[in-house]
Amino acid sequence: MKFFEKNMENFTTHLKNVGYVFQGSEIYGGLSSTWDYGDLGARTIKKIKDIWFSHFADGDLNIFAMDSSVLLSNDVWRASGHINSFEDVLVECKNCHKRFKIEHISKKTVANTKNIDAKWLIENTVECNNCKKKKWTLPKKFNLMFKVKYSKNNNDVDDIYLRPETAQGIFINFLNIVNSTSTKLPFGVAQIGKSFRNEVTTSNFIFRTKEFEQMEIEWFCEEKDAERYFLILLDKMKSFFEMVGIKEESLTVYKQTESELAHYSTKTYDILFNYAFGSLELAGLADRGTYDLEVHSKASKSQLGMKNEKNEWFFPRVIEPSFGVGRTLLSVLWDNFHIETLEDKTQRIVLKLPPSIAPYVASVLPLSKKLGSNAKEEVMKVLKFLPIYYEETGSIGKRYRRQDAKGIPFCITYDFDSVSDQAVTVRNRDTMKQERIKISDLRSYIADKMHNYDI
Ligand code: ATP
Repeated sequence: MKFFEKNMENFTTHLKNVGYVFQGSEIYGGLSSTWDYGDLGARTIKKIKDIWFSHFADGDLNIFAMDSSVLLSNDVWRASGHINSFEDVLVECKNCHKRFKIEHISKKTVANTKNIDAKWLIENTVECNNCKKKKWTLPKKFNLMFKVKYSKNNNDVDDIYLRPETAQGIFINFLNIVNSTSTKLPFGVAQIGKSFRNEVTTSNFIFRTKEFEQMEIEWFCEEKDAERYFLILLDKMKSFFEMVGIKEESLTVYKQTESELAHYSTKTYDILFNYAFGSLELAGLADRGTYDLEVHSKASKSQLGMKNEKNEWFFPRVIEPSFGVGRTLLSVLWDNFHIETLEDKTQRIVLKLPPSIAPYVASVLPLSKKLGSNAKEEVMKVLKFLPIYYEETGSIGKRYRRQDAKGIPFCITYDFDSVSDQAVTVRNRDTMKQERIKISDLRSYIADKMHNYDI
């Protein structure tokens, strides 16, 4: 019997086998740093996004939705500073030729990453994370903006950029949002969508990819309230992570030093997750000040502000909680990936996802194929429109293991007694305990579990 342990290799293989994440363009050898989400991955992502949206936008804060374009005018990126300043500084190890973002190899040693160069790294004997040698190339700057060709007509083709963050689509619509909603401060705008960065160093599975999805909120408030809302939003970020099944002890809040701040930020807290490959950023909370509204007002000659009681224009402050969908999924799956050794010394892989986030809330398993049509007719019908999986082949023990491996919280077994007593056995994934439930009570039993975070 081969014993498994929890490590990245077993984790990623498992996610592929059960249908969460596949390598992008796999049959052609793969396109590096691209990933496709299978049935279970796509369903879990949808749930993460739904929970995120309702947690922030349907709660006690005044938050509107937005879905802006991926393609924006070059004027937007010129004004926002991305064309000039959205860049990584990279160095390469001359020995093993691995490339690193300078902040990733120097964070532990220096506070100010902006003023370091290869000479500095060598003099300060900074080792390569990979081969431990101390031979560095000169640092090179790379702009992360993803260039694409945009044709106005067949003869007239411009270079434009895929958005590297969803935020700018919100800032440039500031007036549309205020005018169409008649809202007053404070208010927020929530947007979920794809962003693209031509990352030069991509690695660590779905952690850093060139194409990724973000969930961002731009929160507009008066200057006097900025600090208070910064802390409220930080708390809301933490409670969101708890709701999707990320453990509190896996997270650390890191305050960026001045030299680490993005060009638009006056204060940023990173929420780090304890990944198998290091404690790295899962999400960020930035105080963008009045930077974006000011630069777009100036460049577009529109007044992207509000009026105070004295009828004077002012720019609201912007606080931005920003999340990566892929990094959230990775953290949720890693924290809930367990390899358990059972009493009979066999092992089971179980994804202990909360029912609210699991791709399916339950599986219907007829004990025998002969009972398939009854199970479909009587049980699946009762559970119509709930996310229910159905499987009828293999021994019941093997089918239980398969549902555990997928992270499905409940197995509903329809057996020969079910025909007469109109009841089924419901098995709990985590405790493996079973209880008998009337088919007529099943819908409310399952629906109730679905809206709870614990099973
Ligand atoms: P990093 O330091 O890891 O490059 P960042 O500070 O550049 O991240 P932000 O600009 O703050 O990231 O973006 C907000 C969120 O978007 C991040 O917290 C992360 O969850 C997600 N994100 C950013 N870049 C990527 C990427 N290349 N792949 C996957 N997710 C990403």
